[in-house]
Amino acid sequence: MTAFPSTLFAGKRFAVVGLGANGRPAADALRAMGAKVTAWDDSEAAREAAAGHTLRDLREGDLTFDAIVLSPGIPHNRPKPHPIAVRAIAAGVPIVSDTELLWQAVRRAGSRARFVGITGTNGKSTTTALLAHVLKQAGWNAEAGANLGPAALSLPLLPDDGVYVLEMSSYMLERIRTVRFDAAAMLNLSADHIDRHGDMAGYALAKRAIFDRQTKDDLAVIGIEDAGSRAMAGWLDTRPAKVVRVAGSGVADVWCEDGVLRDAAGLILRMADAMALPGAHNAQNAAACAAMAAFLGLARDRIASGIASYPGLPHRQQRVVTIDGVTFVNDSKATNADAAERALICYDRVIWIAGGMGKEGGIVPLVQHFPRIARALLIGRDAPIFAETLASHGVAFDCVETLDAAVPAAFAAAKREHAPVVLLSPATASWDQFKSYEHRGERFAELARALVRATSAGDAA
Ligand code: ADP
Repeated sequence: MTAFPSTLFAGKRFAVVGLGANGRPAADALRAMGAKVTAWDDSEAAREAAAGHTLRDLREGDLTFDAIVLSPGIPHNRPKPHPIAVRAIAAGVPIVSDTELLWQAVRRAGSRARFVGITGTNGKSTTTALLAHVLKQAGWNAEAGANLGPAALSLPLLPDDGVYVLEMSSYMLERIRTVRFDAAAMLNLSADHIDRHGDMAGYALAKRAIFDRQTKDDLAVIGIEDAGSRAMAGWLDTRPAKVVRVAGSGVADVWCEDGVLRDAAGLILRMADAMALPGAHNAQNAAACAAMAAFLGLARDRIASGIASYPGLPHRQQRVVTIDGVTFVNDSKATNADAAERALICYDRVIWIAGGMGKEGGIVPLVQHFPRIARALLIGRDAPIFAETLASHGVAFDCVETLDAAVPAAFAAAKREHAPVVLLSPATASWDQFKSYEHRGERFAELARALVRATSAGDAA
């Protein structure tokens, strides 16, 4: 692994604001590259954890920096700009994401390593991990990171033939200025993060920035399975990059039909061979991955074998355990109705665990899939709202408040109602009861495994 030169940013002054999963590694990396770093976090605990850095409250005093790295979670306009962002904008100091500085560092170090950026409301992490896996399986020098983690600035310096595969959230995309992605993908668009972007149009504009600065030598991959993405595809046609349309179902340039992933040249692979990628939504992710891998120069058989051997990511329709014929599926990452829909449509009859901090519209968008739900177990803050929707459509449910109560109750219901799957796909953020969706998913897995011990009849999946 090659480190960046220690004098790369000598003479540069950066501020890093927000010392969490992105900020801390950014501060460390920029200092290791020779920059003068001033760090700040409004939380005292976060400041203490970054004690080795020069800390200063940037809500006041001098602001002469080459750039401010503002953590993606800290707004610079909506819903309310952070006071440091207000000052930075007034002082003309660029607010950048760590990916912007990774790009600058790589080019300054003289490497022509290629950059791939992946965005969309859902499927970013899967497509990012999948493409990196496919490239690595073929022996390529590829690194995945950014929103998915590790943070962009903790990735190593890659040589000219290396490929950075970066998951880009809309928050990160708002703060790139010079990055040019050799291959960029925008998978899909549905209502999310509207508080930050104002409205759907603002959200789409932030996502669209992934294609900024692309030239005729670059690739733009676009999903076409929702109206917002289709509109963006039309816009891309007016731009210089080569456009490839992808779809998990329905014809496109790379698409899935009758379970076969294909392009104009014919079969790429049968999706049934890719065990960790169930459902049409994952076919969309695989199509985007195949389009980008082919553009980067990977042979067709390597693309197919890489997609087939992809092991999957935790908390995304992850099979945890099967007990007495009941499989527990952890899809805790489904933090909105759209993501939960992708999981629900994979099963004919489920016991569904849902609830937490719902998004606008709650589970109303899922109504057409309610016949698949043998019984729902509702937890968290918005259980009463979800209960109302279920009741008005005649779906059986119990409000059980906590996941600890939901898992054993779901197991009992699965046996009683002959449902082969207990699915945690909550359609909500987790923060009312958990530290994160990972925490929620881990607790679900723990509780399911505890049932194995109780029945001593399970086999770990
Ligand atoms: P992201 O990183 O964009 O949040 P993930 O790959 O982590 O996306 O998947 C999150 C959830 O979204 C999963 O629970 C999955 O069911 C759903 N999902 C994954 N890919 C897609 C897709 N292409 N379209 C719609 N939903 C998807």
